[in-house]
Amino acid sequence: MIWPIVTILSLGVAAGLHLGWNRRYRTARSEIEGLHRLQAMLKEEHQRESQQERVRQQLTFDGMTEGVAVLDADGKLQVVNLAFRRLLGLTGEIRGRGVAEVVAQPEMTALMKRLNEDGQLSSVEITLPGPPIRVLLANSNRLSGNEGNLLVVHDLTRIKELERNRKEFVANVSHELRTPLSLIKGFVETLLDGAVDEPETAKKFLRTINKHTDRLTYLIEDLLTLSRLEGGQISMNCQSTALGDVAAQVVEDLVARAQERQVAVENRISSEVIVHADSGRLQQVFSNLLENAIKYGRAGGHVVIDAKTLPAGGVEVWVGDDGPGIPAESRERVFERFYRVDRARSRDTGGTGLGLAIVKHIIQAHGGEVWVNSELEKGSTFHFTLPEESDLLS
Ligand code: ADP
Repeated sequence: MIWPIVTILSLGVAAGLHLGWNRRYRTARSEIEGLHRLQAMLKEEHQRESQQERVRQQLTFDGMTEGVAVLDADGKLQVVNLAFRRLLGLTGEIRGRGVAEVVAQPEMTALMKRLNEDGQLSSVEITLPGPPIRVLLANSNRLSGNEGNLLVVHDLTRIKELERNRKEFVANVSHELRTPLSLIKGFVETLLDGAVDEPETAKKFLRTINKHTDRLTYLIEDLLTLSRLEGGQISMNCQSTALGDVAAQVVEDLVARAQERQVAVENRISSEVIVHADSGRLQQVFSNLLENAIKYGRAGGHVVIDAKTLPAGGVEVWVGDDGPGIPAESRERVFERFYRVDRARSRDTGGTGLGLAIVKHIIQAHGGEVWVNSELEKGSTFHFTLPEESDLLS
């Protein structure tokens, strides 16, 4: 009777042992699985973090105004920022390609050659043909530990343009000053050589000398005004100003000039139009525009000054003549310093070539815009706007 009991017990123990082992085995397996999951999670987290770090680095890199490229030891592109692509006009996949190959400029090839030879910091100026033409300064240097090379590209286009403008301006000013001065000198020498003894000739020469000294004075006055406006040294004293009254004053000041050329000037601006402006500067704007309309318009012609309030706010003002007009290619350029459509005519009439540049500066300092519409043989109309709430230079 004892055997069945022993068998049952041993079966029970065996089953118990098996169950226990099985449970331990299952626990161990789930622990391993847990570890795997944790490992996978950590890996994922790490990947996410390094991905975020890479994005952060690329964003910082892309936020730079200089173009930056990291090259491997063979000069092949590894990483570039947005500015590098923009400055050099590169699109598409460039990773792994040689810089000299993608940029294809002899200066860049020479820079890469130098970098390969000695790895020293060196720079070259590169002019990309455009359009628009772009001038760049590229610096290359070897990274520490010989792990590759760094190429940094600066945009010099604006600086070069300013430099060119300044040189051109100095050359123009010198030329403008020299012309009346050499004429004055010529007449003085002729007077000294004996012309002074012929009263009629002497008077004629003196009148010419007087005209050229006036021209010099206007030129210097305009240059000073322009340089103060450009340097922001002239502050606009803006107040509520009756636009029509300012125009009327200018028309009155120029009545003799208009009569000389038999030009009828009509001021149609209603005295109700009020603008927020510096009346003295506004007077200068009207004066320059009206003087031009009289000078360059048709002799015996008609000049109209008018204004309208704009639906979006502000006022548009215009001065129109029925003269020969301005050729299309010169319409933008007449606002440039010293630009004249007809040089001889401008000089004959005592023009400095700076009047419209001054107009443009004054209007811009009021937060407005200026432009010209013109049709050949029909006339020219100069327009400007004055915003209601002026966005002024202090
Ligand atoms: P300027 O002292 O020569 O008059 P501005 O800057 O006032 O200088 O004008 C520049 C040029 O624009 C003038 O030389 C002239 O050729 C042209 N211009 C200006 N106003 C008119 C106009 N109303 N009609 C035709 N040409 C004009």
